[in-house]
Amino acid sequence: MLRVSDLNVSIGPIPIIRNASLDLEEGEMCGLIGRNGAGKTTLMRALMGVLPATGTAALNDIELLALPAHTRVAHGIGYMPEDRRLVPQFTVEENIRLPSWTTEMGGVEERLSWIFSIMPEVEVFRARRALELSGGQQKMVALARALMAGRRILLLDEPFEGLAPALARRLGEVMSSLKGQGVSILIAESNDGHVADLLSRAFRIERGSVVKA
Ligand code: ATP
Repeated sequence: MLRVSDLNVSIGPIPIIRNASLDLEEGEMCGLIGRNGAGKTTLMRALMGVLPATGTAALNDIELLALPAHTRVAHGIGYMPEDRRLVPQFTVEENIRLPSWTTEMGGVEERLSWIFSIMPEVEVFRARRALELSGGQQKMVALARALMAGRRILLLDEPFEGLAPALARRLGEVMSSLKGQGVSILIAESNDGHVADLLSRAFRIERGSVVKA
């Protein structure tokens, strides 16, 4: 489904990602495991089109790197940034709907109902403004928003980072319920402690190079 080959990303003059290759099958959950600074965020941002990159990133027969960032979302790619990036003044529901405002997207109401069915706790605070939530609750909302766009591929950047144990367990349950839903998921983590049971495979990233585990 997603095949990334020879991906190179530089920030300014500095090469950060070097000839990275990885692949995700349909419905598969894979890890991207590497210590801080290894390049996980940079790789995901390049796939989203936030950073320029060379190489190939084929989603079925579509070459993502040739597309501007906003049209990548329209192809069903959702991204949950490590720092959440919610719009503080918007309500939870508005934040989740946000990707559907910026791209042509059908079936928004059904998708929202489905998201609330797997994360009922998020529905409970749908009318609250994002700034009123705890950091952990905001992470759940960021995942919900990524699910609105991510009908084929989900890129989750350290989703467990900073979560209290109870919320981390709950997030693990939510992730587990995403298995078998046809969405391919790449989870970046600094170690695979939280996610090992969920993953079918893991790629290790070291100083910008990806090696299979
Ligand atoms: P972390 O979890 O700490 O974010 P990471 O694996 O996601 O780690 P990246 O954030 O992708 O790593 O960073 C990879 C490398 O790129 C690091 O050496 C970092 O210092 C460098 N880097 C990232 N962003 C920039 C930037 N805007 N300018 C210069 N260097 C950068």
